Amino acid sequence: MIIQNAFWDGKQMVFGDGDGTIFRDFTSRDDVIGHELTHAVTQFTANLIYENQPGALNESISDVFGIMVKQYKLGKPAAEANWILAEGIWGPGINGRGLRDMQNPGTAYNDPKIGKDPQPAHMKDYKKLPNTADGDYGGVHINSGIPNKAFYLAATKIGGNSWDGAGPIWYETLTGGKLKSNATFQQFADLTVLNAGPHASQVVAAWKEVGISAKSGRSEL
Ligand SMILES: [Zn+2]
Repeated sequence: MIIQNAFWDGKQMVFGDGDGTIFRDFTSRDDVIGHELTHAVTQFTANLIYENQPGALNESISDVFGIMVKQYKLGKPAAEANWILAEGIWGPGINGRGLRDMQNPGTAYNDPKIGKDPQPAHMKDYKKLPNTADGDYGGVHINSGIPNKAFYLAATKIGGNSWDGAGPIWYETLTGGKLKSNATFQQFADLTVLNAGPHASQVVAAWKEVGISAKSGRSEL
């Protein structure tokens, strides 16, 4: 069997070899490995349920830490870094740069054989999808484009390396014990601002650009 995927199954990581035509080998990308391992961290911390907005947050958090693995390895600060997940994963003849583009969600690929990257980059384009396998459980890999872009914006507004600036804020939000397993984008955004310390204004501005007004004041959550 050819596995055209990579996933965390609750106990272990599973990586497909790809078929060499559509997909290349999934273990060849550090960000894909970081993505799958982060699902394990999420499972044992906030345990975001895998549907609708909490599911899209679950997916986004895996992209966030996956891309930081890649940027850290390459030593690239946020402003110079590449924000494409699984860059070069597509086989020859497929028009695509990677699986997802956190800087420009919705532009990672566009090819008759695989379709067009469906990710929105703003709440006004949020995709309401059924909570079924066919509906990607409410678009967990689709609407994750919105928090992905918010992270890209926060990281570049804060400046320096993503893993020194925005990364620790997102990590505290995931693991700090306040994030509920059914969290909405709004609740997640509010918590990132609460955890942003001196960078609160940049984090508020990042969420605003994707259509979410995060609360900047400290409040009981
Ligand atoms: Zn995932």
